[in-house]
Amino acid sequence: MKYHVWTEGCQMNVADSQRLESAFEKLGLEHTPRVADADVIVLNTCVVRQSAEDRAYSYLQSLRPLKDKRPTVVIGVMGCLVGIKDNRRLKEKFSWVDVFAPPSDPTPMIEFLRQREGLALDQAEVAQRFAAQDYEIVLPLHQRGQLVAAHVPVVLGCSHACAFCIIPFRRGVERSRSVGEIMAEARSLVAQGVKEITLLGQIVDRYGYDLKSLSNFKFQSETPLVDVLRLLNEMQGLERIRFLTSHPNWMTDELLDAVAELPKVCEHIEVPVQAGDDEVLARMKRGYTADDYRRLVERIRRKLPGGSIATDIIVGFPGETEAQFLATYDLLAELRLDVAHIAKYSPRPQTLAQRTMPDDVPPEEKERRRKAIEDLQERIVGEINARLLNRAVEVLVEDQHKGKWRGRTRTNKLVFFEDERDWRGKLANVTLLWTGPWSLLGAVNAADSQRISG
Ligand code: SAH
Repeated sequence: MKYHVWTEGCQMNVADSQRLESAFEKLGLEHTPRVADADVIVLNTCVVRQSAEDRAYSYLQSLRPLKDKRPTVVIGVMGCLVGIKDNRRLKEKFSWVDVFAPPSDPTPMIEFLRQREGLALDQAEVAQRFAAQDYEIVLPLHQRGQLVAAHVPVVLGCSHACAFCIIPFRRGVERSRSVGEIMAEARSLVAQGVKEITLLGQIVDRYGYDLKSLSNFKFQSETPLVDVLRLLNEMQGLERIRFLTSHPNWMTDELLDAVAELPKVCEHIEVPVQAGDDEVLARMKRGYTADDYRRLVERIRRKLPGGSIATDIIVGFPGETEAQFLATYDLLAELRLDVAHIAKYSPRPQTLAQRTMPDDVPPEEKERRRKAIEDLQERIVGEINARLLNRAVEVLVEDQHKGKWRGRTRTNKLVFFEDERDWRGKLANVTLLWTGPWSLLGAVNAADSQRISG
């Protein structure tokens, strides 16, 4: 039997799909990149904006004829379209879907296949496969020894309830995974060749506060995420560690000091500001002011000189005036961050904003604001990157793209270079010969590029 997984949305969904694929692998199924060849097709969905939700619906519609033609094909839907609550309406609407699963939990898929297909009939064997090694990831064959960078969720759900955000409703309350689970999962990935691990959470810097009094693990640090970083930093074969997404209010000095001190932890912080106007920030229920964010950026730069900072921005939040938009624009012009992910506000069911604030910024105006920030950011990043010209950077090579090796710097910038040798999964010392806002081009340095790691 063959499975095909289609993934939409955030890194957390990418990680959830990995876990699903791993569960399929443990059942003895085989991955296929072709939908037409698959006996099991799963859509791992996103609903953070209407556009993502629409893509899931249209993909689902497109599977209907396939199901009519081949009724034995199993169609599954997982992720935020399904959510943690019962979904009777979804089941009625998409009658050709066999099984629905909440985010981060492949169990309904596995149960369905086991019952319907009589897979893994031996209960003892099933118990053994899924108990002890439950947290160990088995990569699909084509990724074993090939996948360089992988994700490990450390905090599931979110309890912050930003006014615009649907995630808490679909992923449930915040809960941290145990240190043991995280380490077992990371170890299994590294054993299959993974060199870089990104720890994930909606508010990743809140990791472990809910475990401090409960678990038998004794955290050494006030900021529990630091303990995980320290343990991972010791892991043989692992080269790099990242974490995202951080919330400004939870970024402690202790965490930044750990990033500075631990050699494998990369100097790249993803910390969304969302808006630069205090009234908008208050209505978004973000819990900080623009000045708080300025001070945070200063603190990050003081602790991590040469590091990079990424942010998220929402334009056209309900009631956002031109002046308030300009406050966001000016803040970005002032702070000169390395990345800004820009989104146009999209009203989401159940959220405070959708229930109480009219979506009153017209679509053309949202687009104008988005484009203005995009142009500003393109210019800023172009200038930041231009300063890297002729400099040597350390690149962890992930794969080959159109004949060039492709990897990232510690600061998460995309680098391409050409070379005859096999660089996948290796650290290359690259001198940059061309820079643009979205990527860098270089040549590998002969002298000290021989370091082969892992
Ligand atoms: N947990 C992260 C956000 C995860 S969602 C945080 O603390 O910020 C990823 C991004 O999608 C958000 O940062 C936000 O910029 C965007 N987003 C979330 N809800 C949105 C909505 N209703 N409309 C437009 N963009 C949204």
